[in-house]
Amino acid sequence: MTTNDFSSAHRTPRPDLESSPSATVSAGPGPGPAPTELLRRLRARGAGDPVTHVERVPARAGVPAQWPSWAPEELRAAFTRRGVTAPWQHQAEAANLAYEGQHVVVATGTASGKSLAYQLPALATLLADPRATVLYLAPTKALAADQLRAVAALELEGVRPACYDGDTPRAEREWIRRHSRFVLTNPDMLHHGILPGHAQWSGFLRRLAYVVIDECHTYRGVFGSHVAHVLRRLRRQCARFGATPVFVLASATSGDPATAAGRLTGLPVTAVTEDASPRGGVTFALWEPPLLPRDTGSSAPVPPQATGEHDDLHQVRRSALRETADLLADTVAEGVRTLAFVRSRKGAEVVAANARRSLDDAVPGLGDRVAAYRGGYLREERRELERALLHGDLLGLASTNALELGVDLVGLDAVLICGYPGTRASLWQQAGRAGRSGQEALAVLVARDDPLDTYLVHHPEAIFGAPVEATVLDPANPYVLAPQLACAAVEAPLTPADLVLFGDGAKEAVDQLVAAGALRQRPTGWYWRHRERPEVDLRGEGGAPLCVVESSTGRLLGTVDGGSSHFLLHPGAVYLHQGVSYVVDDLDLADGCALVHAEEPDWSTHARDVTDLSVVSVRSYVDAGPVGMFLGEVDVTSQVVSYQRRRIATGEVIDTRPLDLPTRELRTVAVWFTLSPQSLASAGVQPADVPGALHAAEHAAIGLLPLMATCDRWDIGGLSTAVHPDTEAPTVFVYDGHPGGAGFAERAYGTASAWLRATRDAIAECGCETGCPSCVQSPKCGNGNNPLSKPDAIRVLDVVLANLPD
Ligand SMILES: [Zn+2]
Ligand SMILES: [Zn+2]
Repeated sequence: MTTNDFSSAHRTPRPDLESSPSATVSAGPGPGPAPTELLRRLRARGAGDPVTHVERVPARAGVPAQWPSWAPEELRAAFTRRGVTAPWQHQAEAANLAYEGQHVVVATGTASGKSLAYQLPALATLLADPRATVLYLAPTKALAADQLRAVAALELEGVRPACYDGDTPRAEREWIRRHSRFVLTNPDMLHHGILPGHAQWSGFLRRLAYVVIDECHTYRGVFGSHVAHVLRRLRRQCARFGATPVFVLASATSGDPATAAGRLTGLPVTAVTEDASPRGGVTFALWEPPLLPRDTGSSAPVPPQATGEHDDLHQVRRSALRETADLLADTVAEGVRTLAFVRSRKGAEVVAANARRSLDDAVPGLGDRVAAYRGGYLREERRELERALLHGDLLGLASTNALELGVDLVGLDAVLICGYPGTRASLWQQAGRAGRSGQEALAVLVARDDPLDTYLVHHPEAIFGAPVEATVLDPANPYVLAPQLACAAVEAPLTPADLVLFGDGAKEAVDQLVAAGALRQRPTGWYWRHRERPEVDLRGEGGAPLCVVESSTGRLLGTVDGGSSHFLLHPGAVYLHQGVSYVVDDLDLADGCALVHAEEPDWSTHARDVTDLSVVSVRSYVDAGPVGMFLGEVDVTSQVVSYQRRRIATGEVIDTRPLDLPTRELRTVAVWFTLSPQSLASAGVQPADVPGALHAAEHAAIGLLPLMATCDRWDIGGLSTAVHPDTEAPTVFVYDGHPGGAGFAERAYGTASAWLRATRDAIAECGCETGCPSCVQSPKCGNGNNPLSKPDAIRVLDVVLANLPD
C-alpha cells in the first residue's frame, strides 16, 4: 500500500462561515482592563480553560551606544532632527562592522531600528566620498518607497536617493542612473533591468560601496535561490568594474542568520543578533480551542472544501476563526483596542463580520467599531484607518499580515493571532504591534486545528526559547543555477573563475548548457549563442498559472497555479471563488484555462491522485542499525485519476468518478527514512498496520517541518509505503515540491532527530483518540486520510529516534 501527499497546493483558506454569538459582552467601551485581568475574563468565558501557557515577556530597557566616531556631525544632526538621539547598541555594532568593511547581517526584532544599522555606514560613506554609491534592495516596492521617504527626510546634500523599479517613468531612469547615489530597487528589477543594462550602469556600479539587502529572510526557497545568483551576478559585474561592495543585510529574527546570509550572498557574513532596543512588557497567552463533542461536532457542517481541511468522520476542534471572532468581540466590548491577525483575507472578513454580529446582538451599533483590513488599500485609506484606531472610533480590526509591512499602527492594547503565522519572526512581528508607548499589552496566539499549531501551544519553549527556524535556500539547485548562468553568460562570457563564484554544481550546469546548444566554449570563456536573452522569472515555479473563466460571460475569475490545477480544476470540480461556488465544465490544459459556470450543488469534490517515486541518487545517508536516514534526488510522477463527490450536509460519499488527466513529473530532493520490518514488529506494529503507521508519521512529519525551516506544508510532499522497490523496506519520503528542490528536505535531513522528536511529541500529546487534523490528518492527503494509525505512528517514530544519533 502506497500513499502520497503532494496532492495539491490548495491554498484556499478555511473560511468558517458559521455565526458565533459571543458569550459575554459587557456595556460600552470604556477604559480597558489591565492585560492580566483581561486575560482572566477571556478565559472565564467557556467551560474548560483554553489557555495552555502564559508567558510574561518583561519590559526591556534599551541599551544606547555612542554615535560612531566616524559618523560625521552632519549625519548625526540629521538623525537627531528626525528624533534619533543615539543609536542602540546593536545598531552601532552592525554599523561599525560594516564601516570596517565586513559583510554583516543584523537580525533583530520588529521596530528594533535595523535601518539605522545600514543607513549610518552607507550615508557616512556617501558624505565622505562624493563619488560613492549605494544600492538598496527590498522585497517589495512598497518597502523601498518607505525607505526612500526615510532617507530623503534626512535631507543630506548630494545623496539624491531614488527608487528605480517597474513604476519608474522612462524619463526619470536615465537621470537616476547618472545622478542618484542611493538607488532603491528590488531583486526583480536588478535581474531584469539593471544587470542586463550594466553598460548603462557602469558608472554607478564602479563606485558601489554598499549593497543593502533589507528583509533578507524573505529570500527563501526557490525564490531565495534565484536571488542568491542574481547577487552573484551583481558581484561579478562590480568586480569587472573594480568594485567590491560591502553587503549589509537586515533580517527578522531567525535561526543562524549568518549562514543564511552567507548562502544568499556567497560571502562570509558576521551576524549581530543581540537586540538592544527597548520594548514594553507583553502578557502572551497560548490558546487552544476546545475539541467539539463528537456528537454535536458537525451540527452545522460546512463543506470540507470550504473549510479546507476537515474530514467529517473525525473529531475536530472549534475553529480558530470562530474563537478569534469571539475574542475580538469580547475585547472590543471591554473597550480594548485590538488587532486580530488572520492568515487569509477571507478569514479576516469572516472574523470581522462575526465579531460585528456578536457585538450588535449585545449592544446595537457596537459592531460598527470593528472593521476588516486587507492589503491593497491606498495610502490615504490606511492613514484613515490608523486615525480611526488612534482616536478610538474603531476599537477592533481584523487584518491579514498586510499590516506587517507598511502600516504604522501604534496604540493597541491587545493583539490576537489566529493561527501560527508560520515563523517566529512573523509571530513576534505581529505580537510587537501591541503596547502603546511602552505600556503593558496582551497577545494571544489562537491555535488552528493543525499539528504545528497544536505542538506549539503545548511546547511554549519552541516559541519563547531560542529561535528554531532558519531561512533556507539552495543555490546549488540545478533548475535555478542553469538559467541563472545563462543570464550571466549574456551579461559577460563565463570564465573558469565564475564557476567558483556560482558555486557547487556550476560546472555541471555549464556543461549542460553547452550540450543543449545554449552556450559555446571558446578560449576566452563560455558564450551565449542566441540572439534573445533567456526568459527567467525569479518567482516563477510550478508551471504557468491557469486561468479560471466563466463560460457565459467570459469573465476571468482568477488563476490557479499550475501545480495544483489538476486537483482544483478537473472537469466536474466544485471550485470556490470568493465564497461563490462554480462547477468546472472543461479543463483545457493546452490553452491553460478552465471553463466554469456558477452552480451551488449540495456536494463537494475531492480529487485523488496516484504518485510514484523513484530514487535517482543518494547524496548522503546515516546508517543507524535497523533505521536508515537518507538525502537524495528522486523522481516523482503523479496523476490525478479520480474524484469523489461528497454530500455537504453529511460527508457521505455519493460516488467516485474517473478522470483522464496526463501524468506529471517532478525531479526534486527528498529526505527519507527506512525501518527494518523486524524493528517494527518488535515495537508492536502489526504488519497490517504498517501502512497506516507510516502514513500517519509522514503526515505529522510534513506538518512539523516548518518548525525547522521557513517553509509551509504546501511546499512539501510526502509518500510512505510498507515496502519501496528502491529501498526494499518500509519507507517514509518527504520531498520538496519544487523542481530541483528548495532546501527544505536538506534542512530536514540536517535536523532529522530534532524534527522527528517534535513530530513524535506532537502526535503523542494530541488529546484525540484516533487522530485528528491537529496531529496525523493532512488537509491535502491524496488518499483521503486513509489508512492512518495514530498509536502505531508513535511506535514508528520511537524506533527511528531510539536508533538515530542526535
Ligand atoms: Zn489528534
Ligand atoms: Zn496522506
